[in-house]
Amino acid sequence: MSSNKAPARGRKRFAFDLKNAIQSVSQGVEVRGVRLSVTLISFLAVSLGDEDGSFDCLISQVDGPFKAALTILVSDASEYPSDHTFFCSSHQELPSEILAITESVYEEGSATIQALLVRLLERIARAVVEGTDAVHNATSDDEQQDADSEDEDEDYEMDEYDLELFDVQPSAQILDRFALQRDFNEIVAHGFCPGFIRIGVDEFALTVSLPAKSLADIISPHALLAWDRQLLTGPQYLTLLISGTRGVYPVVKADGRLTHSAAARSTVLQFRVGLTPNYKPDKDITVELMRRYGLQDGDSDKQLSEDASDDDEIEDVDALDDLSSDEGEVNEIEEETEEQARSAGFRPFSLSSSLESLLNGHFLHLLQLRLDYGLGWAGAEVLRWEIESSQSRAEDILLHKEREIRQADKADAKLSESYHLPADCLLDVNPHNPVNLPLIAFSYMLRRLTLCPRYCLVCHQELKEDLDALKPYVCSSTLCTYQYYNLNRGPSLEYEICSNPAAVDLLVSLAYIAAAEGALDAPLPVGMGIRVKSKHSKTKLSTGQDDDLCDLDSLEIDQLLQMRAAIRDLIDMIPPIMQLKRHLEQPHKPGRAKPRLQDIDRSIPEAVWLILRWCVASCTAHLEELKSDEEKVKNMDPTWRQFRFSVGAPHAEAKFRKAVESAKLKNPRAREFPTLYAFHGSPAKNWHSIIRHGLWFKTVANGRAYGNGVYFAKEGSVSLGSYAASATVCWQNSACKAAVCVALAEIVNLPSMFVSTSPFFVVNQTEWIVCRYLMVRAVTSNSNNYIMRTIGASAAPSGTVPVTQETTDADEIPCVPLDPHHPLTLSNALIRIPEPRFALEKLLAARRDAFVPAQFDEEDARIFSGVGDPDAALEGADSVEEAVDRSMVKDDWKHDPEWVNECIEHVLPPPRESSRMASTALQKELQAMLKEQNASRSLKELGWYLPEEFIGDNLYQWIVELHSFDSSLPIAEDLANKKVNSLVFEIRFPATFPHSPPFFRILKPRFLPFIQGGGGHVTGGGSMCMDLLTADGWLPSYSISAILLQIKLAISNLEPRPARLAQNWSTAYGMYEALEGYKRAANTHGWKVPSDIDKLTR
Ligand SMILES: [Zn+2]
Repeated sequence: MSSNKAPARGRKRFAFDLKNAIQSVSQGVEVRGVRLSVTLISFLAVSLGDEDGSFDCLISQVDGPFKAALTILVSDASEYPSDHTFFCSSHQELPSEILAITESVYEEGSATIQALLVRLLERIARAVVEGTDAVHNATSDDEQQDADSEDEDEDYEMDEYDLELFDVQPSAQILDRFALQRDFNEIVAHGFCPGFIRIGVDEFALTVSLPAKSLADIISPHALLAWDRQLLTGPQYLTLLISGTRGVYPVVKADGRLTHSAAARSTVLQFRVGLTPNYKPDKDITVELMRRYGLQDGDSDKQLSEDASDDDEIEDVDALDDLSSDEGEVNEIEEETEEQARSAGFRPFSLSSSLESLLNGHFLHLLQLRLDYGLGWAGAEVLRWEIESSQSRAEDILLHKEREIRQADKADAKLSESYHLPADCLLDVNPHNPVNLPLIAFSYMLRRLTLCPRYCLVCHQELKEDLDALKPYVCSSTLCTYQYYNLNRGPSLEYEICSNPAAVDLLVSLAYIAAAEGALDAPLPVGMGIRVKSKHSKTKLSTGQDDDLCDLDSLEIDQLLQMRAAIRDLIDMIPPIMQLKRHLEQPHKPGRAKPRLQDIDRSIPEAVWLILRWCVASCTAHLEELKSDEEKVKNMDPTWRQFRFSVGAPHAEAKFRKAVESAKLKNPRAREFPTLYAFHGSPAKNWHSIIRHGLWFKTVANGRAYGNGVYFAKEGSVSLGSYAASATVCWQNSACKAAVCVALAEIVNLPSMFVSTSPFFVVNQTEWIVCRYLMVRAVTSNSNNYIMRTIGASAAPSGTVPVTQETTDADEIPCVPLDPHHPLTLSNALIRIPEPRFALEKLLAARRDAFVPAQFDEEDARIFSGVGDPDAALEGADSVEEAVDRSMVKDDWKHDPEWVNECIEHVLPPPRESSRMASTALQKELQAMLKEQNASRSLKELGWYLPEEFIGDNLYQWIVELHSFDSSLPIAEDLANKKVNSLVFEIRFPATFPHSPPFFRILKPRFLPFIQGGGGHVTGGGSMCMDLLTADGWLPSYSISAILLQIKLAISNLEPRPARLAQNWSTAYGMYEALEGYKRAANTHGWKVPSDIDKLTR
């Protein structure tokens, strides 16, 4: 920043900035135009203009013929640098493309002189480049090089002068509505809904959202249901809320760094991700979310310290209770408020906290890296993590690892074959184009949501494991594991318990069986800070507080048995899941926090809850008990509990689909029946691991009697008998008492390519298999008998067609056509698989039916239309589309600028008072008027005219003409005789508009006063004597064009006497006499004069 302190605003600031600009240019600063071509434009000189508040500049093309002298005028230097407008003109005849630029300078909004000059030059340079492209395409390489080096020199100079010339704009325009309008339109073009939420005078939040039902178009609905059922429950939007802009827009420059205004206002962007009933949350909810944001980190710390104190004072339960009843209360109420706010309008889902921490911690940096080095998201991420871990500069890392980083981007292209990734709007970004931050942030969030199983939920880095998990989890870093479990970073365990208790019960049971039967292996619950009772004193911690406890992690290496035992003991202390569900769902007093798991029994050690969390969260497959006939496999013995069981990521599903398609091409049988279903059995103790790793984890490599691969049986009892050994133990609190598990998988129908087909299908191509169901049977006293019996049954001669009758009630539910060559049976009953899309389609159809397209509210509508900015209003009116060709209308009324000019000669400056309310209303009004005028086929019919060239930059003073009175009226005759083109009115608006009426008065011509026999409701001072223009008669809903018609009617009124022109008709009315006339008239009629009428006329 310059060493002399810049005056804050007004004429002094204008003079200061102008002096700086003149100086900088005279010292030889050349502002770089566009990098695109050899054509560069520079300033030769900037000098003071002839008029006050104006300056001249001479620009010229480097190595080119183009030269232009421009005059720039500021609308009102006293408003500089925030509420003024620039106008640009030239005495020269400019090429049309340059003229278009100079004429639209006012559209740039309220920029500083410096910002205006840069922008002007950029636009002119681009226009010149485009205009001469054809000619200069054949530029020789030498010239090209010269230009390049010149370009670099200028870059350097820019940097030097950057501070002095281009950074002096601490209070430059803050909310650029043009940028916002442009970005909003682009967001809509990408299929998302933008939203603007004004929060105060100086603050707003932005949202981008997508109807949640549309997620099912880009992400497999099965995956969505597995990640969080809420994503497909009810009509709602996936919404990204961006706050912390401090009222500044755009927030970032073309290089992804904060704009000067944003930096000056210490903008810190905050991102929130959630589900909202509408396309944007209400203002109140937004305020609440923003208020809570600052406290969030503090909360985590508090949570941490509370956890620590739990550990330390585990025996001192009383002290703990005291603590929570004191300070705890306030906190709990706060939580409750947020809870309510969130559930009402902004619900987080399982991935919210992870996505938020990614966006808040990394998004802007990633954006900058992408723009700086031309990287994709994947490359920028690799670079970012490298910068963080090595604490080196990006340049240094790129020196050594550029290949690896670019490779990440290439791998990304491959990824898009199996994932529907959002369009990358940064791909063809020009270094000079503005960055549409909300759009890019939302696309990035959507990309990471789509790819969520591939990344660690805590550190956000790509998982190294080959396994394509369905559900996201953490990487193997202990830090991530710890944070995940202790800071509640992942999906909510409480939500799982309440919405999917049978699956939680099953997961705990399987973990228990694995631990008790000695099959529990990696992944173990380490790194979570679980402390367990130890029989070995050597692992004791030295704190001496809890002599009995040691870190579970310390048992990992040499005491796996002991570790398994410890885990089993911990699971034994978990209360029944249904009991937990009831506890969590009990009604809680308003103002009190929701019940927490821990509260069910404070004597249960913290480690027990951590193990419970681990049993559920470490399972990256999706398990969900099936209850409806639409979803349940038919003809299964009802003693089996059925679970939907999906292991693979959308990625794996995509590979499977591909394999199916290629099988259809190869084999006519596969064309008819693309897939087979078959059972896979394994001892109960293995399922904890299978659920986490997939069927083929160990089985593919291990040789068995019929070859290497995954074993399947068409008859379920075979799998059960041979492989699905029953558990010998059972978690005591389990409701399902799982003892026998068998999976039902879908396999590509190419048995000829299997390793073996008899008596088992042995499949070694893992992408040919997808798990669909897990069938679970409880321990019963005769379960062994059952297995024996079914094995006996399966010994029936093969090829015997099962005769079991199907139940007919569910017949309308379509089933998957199964290849009759490979009938699927369990105990000889023919198994039918319901069409998986059926129930899903019903769900999606319900979502689609319930969907109501976003209705943009007024605030957003204003942004789209560009209203909200006086310049924007002009822009709208200027648009060619709306203008109507009136040249066809014969003897239409014609506006005469000279006449109007003559009338407004002595008009007072605009009223000084303004308000946001009035400005908004006036912008809207002005735009509506211009639109009506431009759309009008005949001005004569319209009867009024709003001359655009007299619309000043101050919204509070308008000049309007009334004309084309009925030719039979005496006043029309008078006007025609004197060749008066129109009645020219001044309208002055108070800051309280539209709640108070505007003040209308005629400037010219002068009317015959009432006392001299005149009429037409015109006061002796030229103001209107009309009830509706007083405090009593006024309604805020009146439009100005409607009032103009009322005035015209009043003037045309022949009662009590017709209006006539005065002798001295060409003497303009003065403001003083107009006001006096108005007051007098109001008093006569007993009308109330608006309280601020006097302010209007000073
Ligand atoms: Zn991690």
